[in-house]
Amino acid sequence: MKKTISIIGSTGSIGLQALDVVRKFPGLFSVVGLAANRDWEGLRRQIAEFGPSEVGLSDEEAAGKLSGALDGKGPVIWSGGDCLSRIASIEQCDMVLIAVVGMAGLQPTLRALEAGRDVALATKEALVVGGDMVMREARGHRARILPVDSEHSAILQCLRKERKSAVKRLLITSSGGPFRTRSKSQMEDVTVNDALNHPTWKMGRKITVDSATLMNKGFEVLEAHHLFSIPLEKIEVVIHPESIIHSLVEFQDGSTIAQLSPPDMRLPIQYAMGYPERLPHYWSALDLASVGKMTFERPDFERFPCLSLAYRAGAEGGTMPCVMNAANEVAVARFLNGETSFSSIPRIVESVMDDHHPLREATFQDLCEADRWARKVSENLVLKHGVRK
Ligand code: MG
Repeated sequence: MKKTISIIGSTGSIGLQALDVVRKFPGLFSVVGLAANRDWEGLRRQIAEFGPSEVGLSDEEAAGKLSGALDGKGPVIWSGGDCLSRIASIEQCDMVLIAVVGMAGLQPTLRALEAGRDVALATKEALVVGGDMVMREARGHRARILPVDSEHSAILQCLRKERKSAVKRLLITSSGGPFRTRSKSQMEDVTVNDALNHPTWKMGRKITVDSATLMNKGFEVLEAHHLFSIPLEKIEVVIHPESIIHSLVEFQDGSTIAQLSPPDMRLPIQYAMGYPERLPHYWSALDLASVGKMTFERPDFERFPCLSLAYRAGAEGGTMPCVMNAANEVAVARFLNGETSFSSIPRIVESVMDDHHPLREATFQDLCEADRWARKVSENLVLKHGVRK
């Protein structure tokens, strides 16, 4: 029987690659729902090819244009703020892929889990911000969360059929990003183009900047903590510039198991979509001799303060990771706009975190409140400091 899928964020980098998996395995998957932010023309092409029954566009104006172009033919069209959640909880759907940027992914993730759907989760911010809540919903509705992130996909593969009590440490690998070898002062004047030039991975703009600051790695530590319920102090980051080993699990008996493959997001996307089956790959598999050698380093918390900020937010818990994420979203967006410098990103995030008194047991409402507060404070900091050159 075909697995029916809805994709939240279908016109983004992960969404497009997921649709490519559907295209490659038409006998295994069918698309019932698609949602995007404002790319109505991209969505229109996807509707013509995949024939979903319902679609959503957050942007009302774009939804109007799509509706005009389809002229009453085709799927039901939803628009506005909660349309992502609507598409995430569509009837007759086996799996929802959540692949939107940032905090916007939290609510559709919760809705999909409440509806008992398996969630393929690419939006790591959903776990970073609302990890306790998301895992509670998943357990309560017996829904699975399958990570669409190379590191967590690797850990999931290493942990298959292993007992949790046998795990000693998780080792999350990081390429180190484009500034791995730059000194602290050399990082003061990096440009947007420098930050978007990732050495091993092709991804969307926001996550590429997060990979340059290592905030992305910090998010992944928190993501792993929730997903595999492993304490933060048992999760370490190891820099591995070749990005061949995607993460490792060390067990109590001293054995360490790793997952290896060329750096290509199609594997974790396809693994989550096909889980628990392994589907044949249609890209080059690993050729160790041509890789030649693999190297490893410890992360430098001083040059990459975002990594320590993420551990700190995770340890403080409650609303703190939400505040860290909101400050980071604002700082990264402003950096991409040329309104603030690369080195201001951790400064803004730290300063907003310093001003926040986290609530321990946070509800969804508390998180939205903390998110709004942190965005406002961050915007003010950007205005106050402007571009530091
Ligand atoms: Mg990753």
